[in-house]
Amino acid sequence: MQSKISAFFTSTQDSSSPNNDHDLSTWENQQHHIINTYTRRRVNPRSGTSDPQPVTLAKNKKRSYAQFHLDFGQSDFLLRSCSTCGIKFTPGDPQDEKSHNEFHKSYTQGILFRGWTKENVIPLPSLDTGRVVLFLETDRSSHRKKVEEVVRMMEIEIGSGWILHERCKVYLFVSLNRVAGCLVAEPIEKAFRVVSGSVAGSVHSAKKRGVTTRSTTLQFGNVIFQREVHRKVANVSDSEKMEGAIFCASEPTAAAGGIRAIWVTPSNRRKGIATQLLEAMRKSFCPGLELERSQLAFSQPTSAGKALAASYTGTGSFLAY
Ligand SMILES: [Zn+2]
Repeated sequence: MQSKISAFFTSTQDSSSPNNDHDLSTWENQQHHIINTYTRRRVNPRSGTSDPQPVTLAKNKKRSYAQFHLDFGQSDFLLRSCSTCGIKFTPGDPQDEKSHNEFHKSYTQGILFRGWTKENVIPLPSLDTGRVVLFLETDRSSHRKKVEEVVRMMEIEIGSGWILHERCKVYLFVSLNRVAGCLVAEPIEKAFRVVSGSVAGSVHSAKKRGVTTRSTTLQFGNVIFQREVHRKVANVSDSEKMEGAIFCASEPTAAAGGIRAIWVTPSNRRKGIATQLLEAMRKSFCPGLELERSQLAFSQPTSAGKALAASYTGTGSFLAY
């Protein structure tokens, strides 16, 4: 550093003085370093300029790619819920997506069923698209496991924890090595006849009163029974179909067979499978006795169940319990 500021502004003819030379070299050495941070780059081979050297490209070099996702605050960034089967999975995770695809197929088309060595097949003359297999509580445990697997699929749509008990008879509709539908029947003695034409009116009145319509309701006189149905699948049009209430006569009627639950996989609906299951149950539920359609009773039917019951029995005044 120069000793005096006046020395820095000294004219060139005075720069030969030994003192001034010493000060300037000290300043350059201590403070005025220039560091070159650039290195020479290779000439672009495509520019056609001066570099004649051939360039070899690594064609077979293995490269690894990664899928990136941008988080813009979307609600399903980490977990996406399938609107059909209700399963939550991580988009972009191959294992997660594979698991979902397998489950989705089982839910919509039916779980895989390779058949049992000893099957109790219910003969149905009009059935050529599959077969109806009956499961009883006394069947072997491997059969029970398969039935419980089917019931878990049913529970996604119609609620869990109530479908199966030890007195139930279960009818499986098997087609193309998959269980396309299931009917769970139970012995009952009494049921109540639905007041004909009450279905549409009750739905309308329930909505008017602001009553929650997410549960199935049965009314006997002044007593109303409600079953809460926890739907994991948020499908507006389907949930609207499931809503509603029915009104029944207060006096019970004798009944022989109760349909506790009936369910057909989503991609197999409108193929007459539910009707075939009802036919199988009607003909085999009471050994040695073929029931009349009017003797079957439906447990707290949903709107879709009411339509099926009315269509199958041929009357809106079917039995419910
Ligand atoms: Zn799905």
